[in-house]
Amino acid sequence: MSTPEREAQVRAGLAGVRARIERACHAAGRDPGGVTLVVVTKTYPASDVELLAGLGVVDVGENRDQEAAAKAAAVSAPMRWHFVGQLQRNKCRSVVTYADVVHSVDGVRLAETLAGAAQRHRERALSVLVQVSVDGDPARGGAVRGGDADRDLERVAAAVAAAPALRLAGVMAVAPMDWAPDAAFAALAEVSADLRARYPEATMISAGMSGDLEAAIAHGATHVRIGSAVLGTRDKLR
Ligand SMILES: *Cc1c(COP(=O)(O)O)cnc(C)c1O
Repeated sequence: MSTPEREAQVRAGLAGVRARIERACHAAGRDPGGVTLVVVTKTYPASDVELLAGLGVVDVGENRDQEAAAKAAAVSAPMRWHFVGQLQRNKCRSVVTYADVVHSVDGVRLAETLAGAAQRHRERALSVLVQVSVDGDPARGGAVRGGDADRDLERVAAAVAAAPALRLAGVMAVAPMDWAPDAAFAALAEVSADLRARYPEATMISAGMSGDLEAAIAHGATHVRIGSAVLGTRDKLR
């Protein structure tokens, strides 16, 4: 159960973020209807998700399977669950049972494992974004243009597109710490345009977090993933 204090906090956080999205869209000459707010609820309880549902939020994001699976089972409101964290192949079977969108597919083998799990354990195709490494650093998550066989962006996209149980929906990125968000999201927009030339349905661009949603919207983000600016600062860094 939520307290009235918590509800007031979340309501205020949400109003602030919705206002930021509107202003950013206005500045970019974009229709705010073209930007979906995904509230990242990691570390926060299922009761916060119910609160968000009551405030009109449909899309919520999680980054760990164990936490997400339990929360999705505990929430009765009909949410769209976005899996935004690094995904291990042994978690695919679980993730496909509750996720509507997976933002973080960055390997050919991962795409194949996810496709197999989706084929066996769900009825509707699973929407998948290819996570792009903007700086090409293989140590962090993300597929890389011209990368090695498993992490090559083209091959990852092709593996997703070839799987009947997956739908290639677009791209996702996290701005590298040492890059200006503007430069990072401009690079992502280019990758997205390239991809759409070959896969016209791959229109989603998942970019922007609490600190950089304005830059992401300026560069065409269709989905922003916002945690702390709505729900408060998380205890642990994750
Ligand atoms: C936690 C997280 C977010 C949200 O981050 P905030 O800075 O709290 O808005 C967005 N994307 C991913 C992949 C995350 O793990």
